[in-house]
Amino acid sequence: MGDAADGRQRGREHELLAYVVLVGLTGAGLCLVSVLSLQASDVAALGAPFWFIAVLVLLGELRPVVAAGDYDPEGVNISTAFVFAVLFLWGPWPALLIQAVAMVTGELVRRKELWRLIFNSGQYVVCVGSAWLVLWVFGMHPSPTEPLDVDADQLPAMALAWAVYFFCNLAFVAVALSLKNGTSFRDEFFDDIGYYAVTTFAVLALSPVVVMVTSAAWQLLPLLLLPLFLVYKTASISLEKEHAASHDELTGLANRKRLLEEAGRLLAEASAAGRPMALCLIDLDRFKEVNDTLGHQTGDRLLAIAGNRLAQSVRSGDVVARLGGDEFAVLLTHIEDRPQALQAAARIRAVLGAPFHLDEMTLQIEASIGVAVHPDDAMDVAQLMRLADVAMYQAKEACTGVELYHAERDVHTLARLGLMGSLRAGIERGQLEMHYQPKVAFPRGDVVGVEALVRWRQPMRGLLLPDEFLDLAEQSGMMRQLTEDVLAQSLLRAATWWHQGLELPVSVNVSVRDLADVAFVEEVERLLAGHRLPARALQLEITEHVLMADPARMSAALESLGQMGVDLSLDDFGTGYSSLVHLKRLPVSEIKIDRSFVSRMTDDADDATIVRSIVELAHALGLRSVAEGVETPEHWQALKELRCDAAQGYLISRPLPDDAVTPWLAARVRSHPAWGSTHDGAVAYDDAAAYDDAAPAPAYAEATTLRVVTRP
Ligand code: C2E
Ligand code: CA
Ligand code: CA
Repeated sequence: MGDAADGRQRGREHELLAYVVLVGLTGAGLCLVSVLSLQASDVAALGAPFWFIAVLVLLGELRPVVAAGDYDPEGVNISTAFVFAVLFLWGPWPALLIQAVAMVTGELVRRKELWRLIFNSGQYVVCVGSAWLVLWVFGMHPSPTEPLDVDADQLPAMALAWAVYFFCNLAFVAVALSLKNGTSFRDEFFDDIGYYAVTTFAVLALSPVVVMVTSAAWQLLPLLLLPLFLVYKTASISLEKEHAASHDELTGLANRKRLLEEAGRLLAEASAAGRPMALCLIDLDRFKEVNDTLGHQTGDRLLAIAGNRLAQSVRSGDVVARLGGDEFAVLLTHIEDRPQALQAAARIRAVLGAPFHLDEMTLQIEASIGVAVHPDDAMDVAQLMRLADVAMYQAKEACTGVELYHAERDVHTLARLGLMGSLRAGIERGQLEMHYQPKVAFPRGDVVGVEALVRWRQPMRGLLLPDEFLDLAEQSGMMRQLTEDVLAQSLLRAATWWHQGLELPVSVNVSVRDLADVAFVEEVERLLAGHRLPARALQLEITEHVLMADPARMSAALESLGQMGVDLSLDDFGTGYSSLVHLKRLPVSEIKIDRSFVSRMTDDADDATIVRSIVELAHALGLRSVAEGVETPEHWQALKELRCDAAQGYLISRPLPDDAVTPWLAARVRSHPAWGSTHDGAVAYDDAAAYDDAAPAPAYAEATTLRVVTRP
């Protein structure tokens, strides 16, 4: 905030203080006069009816009727009807005193700040005092010893007294609010004036009735409470309803609608006061996995805890909302600049990152937070939301956790958000295409399979790699559709080969989403049958992450796939947190060593050890080990020495488009009738002399029908 704005605010604070003190002193002065002017005879004359009403005033003060809508969180005070009854019956002094006592008690019970207590008590007393002036002008001089004799002619005077009270009250409050918020008096005065007028006059109109009942038979006053009780009841029901409509059931936080309303109001206040404000959009990373694997109940509990943590991590006055699913928003109203907003967001992220303890499980989730600041980035709520959303995607993509909105970066991200919409259409229009990367066995380089890797030929952006759109597919719930297309294309390709006699398994990558869907297994079965392919023509690659959370649910799908005879391969091994127990229990027949270990194994002793351990582990469990990312002859040599079973990587071949993969395979195939020619392969993985032609490739011995010829 600028120094000038700072100075203005401090100036206003001083004025507000002076104003509050002035109002308080005036009120106190009036009360003092009241006490002094009351005689003992007056007090005696007041008697039981007065004390009874006094109790009602106090009760009304302690239980205001809070109506739905956010006009007036303080509620309508029905005690005013009784205060005015006292005023009409017995004159100003008892009325002022009772108003003061009730107000101070009420504010103390409500634990209001001292300045509010002083101001509210003072101004109500002054307002009642001004109402009395009207009566006085009209020649009505009731006193404890000479109570008013009500009749209908007095109604105009009474009504005028109400009006004066009402406008007086409104003006006092408007001055205080305009000083406090830096807004104009006019705006504050007319803000919701209709609502206040209706509620205030409705309550005040009751006062002559209270007067008449009291004059006739004050013992009947409790009967008046019955309709009032009804008013309370209806008001509180409408309040509950409103709460339900504006809050999220699961977390009890504000919902989207409520957030937008609140944000609109707070933004206007902040603008007027020259204060900045920040909106954080929070998305839990990989929450869908939790939901899919641990079930919705656990997911819901996690969300509830997360919501609670959020609510506790902000300052009072900030707004926390759940926008739906795993998306939350926090409106920060106490920040001074952008760096502070970023800090606050980072703090929120840390709070969410602490482990969640659910039953005997401990879960950890991360969040991505996008922050947009008013007025730097946006002037209105809708724009602020949109930009925070853009920043959130930036945080997700860059894996930085928290990002402030930066206009320069927006172009790119907007393009990607646009992609999200076009992915669905792209899949439908057949824009996904498959590339195939060969997998070869040690030691001779026999081709043992191909891995199908998806690409998206996007009309505007060219060929996109999976990293550029898989997360979009995941987030927009299109993973199943994508895998369906990938499976269909890959099995069509496999079918052509197999029916030509090239019996080579095709590996397809599948996600958690696929395996969580019971229809997936049937789909695989249907496609295999449709192409007249045996189950061993297909291999599925799953990452460790899939197995992590809910082995039971996943293994049901995996079990049936295993029984069908589909080979399962554990992808990116070493990067997740799979336990060895799962490995043993699941029908996995192959482990793929993540390329991050392989690529460093010739430089880094630790990585070499990791690769060795994985190979040994695989063999101990009777599984095959496949090294990914084999790029150099040194890798090849080292892996061969470790007795790794197979390799995949740029050294052997990059993923090849559909029309290039068949010639590549054909060039390396000999001795197969359908593939005829004995074409020598040109790829040398290592020193040819080191090839041990006599050594069998144990794990693949039966499965393989092809051989790659690798003589330089
Ligand atoms: P992945 O399953 O680990 O696939 C291997 C990735 O490593 C491929 O990247 C491949 O091009 C790359 N690669 C192969 N050899 C080498 C090498 O020697 N050096 C280096 N640096 N990289 C190598 P790609 O095609 O970009 O795929 C990335 C990831 O996207 C895949 O990792 C896989 O997890 C996922 N993916 C690809 N296609 C599909 C699909 O159809 N469905 C699903 N669910 N995921 C897919
Ligand atoms: Ca893979
Ligand atoms: Ca992999």
